[in-house]
Amino acid sequence: MGARLENPDKEVSLMKHEYANCSFCGGIVKERLVNVDYRTKNGLVIIENVPAGVCCQCNERYFTAEAAKIMEKLAYISKTPTRVVSVPIRRFSEY
Ligand SMILES: [Zn+2]
Repeated sequence: MGARLENPDKEVSLMKHEYANCSFCGGIVKERLVNVDYRTKNGLVIIENVPAGVCCQCNERYFTAEAAKIMEKLAYISKTPTRVVSVPIRRFSEY
């Protein structure tokens, strides 16, 4: 697999899906593994190593229906997460 991995330490699998060119800029879209900030009604869940089509020019991301379905399931799964991190929150008006 020639894909660049954001988390090369993790065991990962690409879907080897062929993506259409970017609908915003027409750039070539290649499959990569990305981290997704997934917001649910219970709060934020970060999902690592999601196979996604990423535009080489503008970095727009495209998810297959299958990947989207798996992310939705993972976001609501009750199993203990891989790890938990704290996230700093800033208000725009602080600046
Ligand atoms: Zn693009």
